[in-house]
Amino acid sequence: MQRTLAILKPDCVRKNLVGKVLAHLQEAGFKIVAMKMVHLNAKTAGEFYAVHKQRPFFNDLVKFMTSGPCVPLVLEKENAIQDYRKTIGATDPAQADEGTVRKLYADSKEQNIVHGSDSPESAAYEIAHFFSNAELVDNFGA
Ligand code: GDP
Repeated sequence: MQRTLAILKPDCVRKNLVGKVLAHLQEAGFKIVAMKMVHLNAKTAGEFYAVHKQRPFFNDLVKFMTSGPCVPLVLEKENAIQDYRKTIGATDPAQADEGTVRKLYADSKEQNIVHGSDSPESAAYEIAHFFSNAELVDNFGA
């Protein structure tokens, strides 16, 4: 079993799509092992996206991610990191495959509904950013 960190971004919450996206992820076989709603500030969003600090869109990204509450969650599944990336689709919804979360719901390359870890290293960093070990449950039968 592998774990990945997902975020239902502020646009997802604003558009009342939390339930639909969670259902999509559960139907794709992901088990939720942690979940909360938080409103990031510039410091916490900047730390989370530290890897993008030098990118031209960094300030816009922080502004977007602090524009409202979001829902970080830890998902578990065989091959969770890669499968989740496949389930959400490409960063830019215009490039995303049919039936993916971003193709279905995202408005733009920035406001793209969901985040997902892109490697085991980033998953470990990102899960620890939002959750303590005690907040990760064993979700066997659910
Ligand atoms: P992801 O792993 O698919 O989320 O994509 P990246 O790691 O490349 O980028 C992180 C996030 O930054 C994306 O999910 C978008 O919200 C945002 N982003 C990526 N590219 C751009 C861009 O060219 N412009 C803006 N404004 N935001 C971007």
